[in-house]
Amino acid sequence: MYVLFLGPPGCGKGTQAQYLTEATDFLQLSTGDLIRAEIKAKTELGKQLESLYSSGKLVDGGLVLKMVQKVVASEGAKSILFDGFPRTVSQATAFGEFLQSVNKKLDCVFSFSLADSEILDRISGRMTCADCKAVYHAKTNPPKNEGICDKCGGELVKRTDDSRESVKLRLEEYHRETEPLKEFYKKENLVYEIDASQPIEMVRKQIFNKIEAISK
Ligand SMILES: [Zn+2]
Repeated sequence: MYVLFLGPPGCGKGTQAQYLTEATDFLQLSTGDLIRAEIKAKTELGKQLESLYSSGKLVDGGLVLKMVQKVVASEGAKSILFDGFPRTVSQATAFGEFLQSVNKKLDCVFSFSLADSEILDRISGRMTCADCKAVYHAKTNPPKNEGICDKCGGELVKRTDDSRESVKLRLEEYHRETEPLKEFYKKENLVYEIDASQPIEMVRKQIFNKIEAISK
């Protein structure tokens, strides 16, 4: 089964992705992680990505699609949760054509929605484990010991791009570039709406129930 998590930064989809991959055999295909891994492994693609990064340009969708194709080629038999890609309608079109060419398809697009004002409040409390990448929140999902990861004992850090100003910019970009994907996938009857203002546990149940229903 292939699913996509679509939603603004700070809507809680990272936490939900973590729940899903821990409790099921879903593989999380996070493009941010893939980009960092390619650069670290110094592959040809990694070198291209690194020069884009150092020139401050956005990584273009074609390169990201290449990485996604590599993963689907090697791990495609598993259930995959796509996270962070596609990000634009043109990427979604290319991604759809690729999936079709390998006889695969998306089974569901989980569309998370949350008001911008609440996103700004949420993100300012967010922390990530420097070691295992687990996500915490000062108010809604605090660690047992302040500043320390429950799972691995790693140090919890705030992302530098989690300041209010940079979050506002990311939200503008989301509304402009990524939100139109919702309409795109609605036309394919793939959208399952998630009200991300609900408690984390309720969102978790909703996602798990939907996935169970699709697997039948
Ligand atoms: Zn950790």
